[in-house]
Amino acid sequence: MGQRITIGSLSGIEVRIHRSWVIIALLVGWSFWSRFVFVGYASTPAVLMAVVGAALFFLSVLIHEFAHALEAQHRGVEVGGITLFLFGGVTEMASDIRRPRDEFAVTAIGPFSSIVLAAIFGLIAFYSGQAGLEVVADVAGLLGWINLALGLFNLLPGAPLDGGRILRALVWSVTGDRGRAVRFAARTGQVLAAALVSVGVLQLLFLPAAAIGGIWLMVIGAFLAFAAQSEIAQHAIGEALRGLTVGELLLRDELTTLPADADLAIAVEQLRVGPERSLAITRDGRTVGVLLFDHIARLPEERRAGTPVSEVMLPVDALPSVDGGAEITDALREMADGRPLVVTSGEEGAERIEGVVTPEQLDRVVRRTLQLGEQRAPATSSARPDDPGHLPQADR
Ligand SMILES: [Zn+2]
Repeated sequence: MGQRITIGSLSGIEVRIHRSWVIIALLVGWSFWSRFVFVGYASTPAVLMAVVGAALFFLSVLIHEFAHALEAQHRGVEVGGITLFLFGGVTEMASDIRRPRDEFAVTAIGPFSSIVLAAIFGLIAFYSGQAGLEVVADVAGLLGWINLALGLFNLLPGAPLDGGRILRALVWSVTGDRGRAVRFAARTGQVLAAALVSVGVLQLLFLPAAAIGGIWLMVIGAFLAFAAQSEIAQHAIGEALRGLTVGELLLRDELTTLPADADLAIAVEQLRVGPERSLAITRDGRTVGVLLFDHIARLPEERRAGTPVSEVMLPVDALPSVDGGAEITDALREMADGRPLVVTSGEEGAERIEGVVTPEQLDRVVRRTLQLGEQRAPATSSARPDDPGHLPQADR
């Protein structure tokens, strides 16, 4: 995603910042500054204090996220990276958490570390205050309160907040049904979001002095509502894809093919009128490459005819390949940047190319499955009996 910039990595965990985060960093710095000016500091030292304070604030957020990430790694969950955005961050898990107690531990350690940080900053503030180091005491004191607020806010029981995930782990543990737990926690997240927005609106209407706080509550509430909704959608997509292999994806949604020596003009016409944005290119019945809409769109008008498609296509050996038996959820990461995947079969070293799958095909299969639901194949069909998720071929 072009929205994020990688700033470094630690213990194999990449740290990225979302573009929007820069605005938030400035906003946090500014509010620290106005807070220090408000308690009586001159403008210039207040700037320095605000910069240090904001840096320590973001360090605190990072520590919170790293606590999640390291605990996840410790429990065998693969961590993709940490992205800082808005006031917090997200730790992306590349593999699923498989037990409720793991989800509980991985989640609870975040707010716990914020509360520990609050205590540490509180102690620093107390002792530096006694030693007459006012500046240190004021910066540390503010950070102590903010970390406490961060820890407590995150414990509110609505997903995707940590409190919601803890709730999810508990419901999961009691019912044994992860899907039900996900939906329940996301719904409480929506209720929580509605409550935050309502309080924000009331504050805006009846407490003009706290109008800014009201606006913040509304923004955070709206963000939460959106995140809770996408949590539900994400889960539904995960369910729709569960157990589906790359090879099956290829069967369910095959690309239109074109021979390698066909004129580019034919491909242009095909992509102009057809629903597809990519074509598989074949030679002697074997897939040798893939031609993407974007490829052609980038070519100047006069070069879109007169040459064979093989000159413009992405050859298969330039693409990442994956065995047809691999689960699609594992192949997703390879596809994340929009690249097609070559699907192979057979022993390593002697693979046969079965075809190409694109993110667009994956998208179509997900959408169809979500809209129609997964059908159980009738017993007489060719579907393997041990795989109720396998659709009859007529699905195309
Ligand atoms: Zn957290």
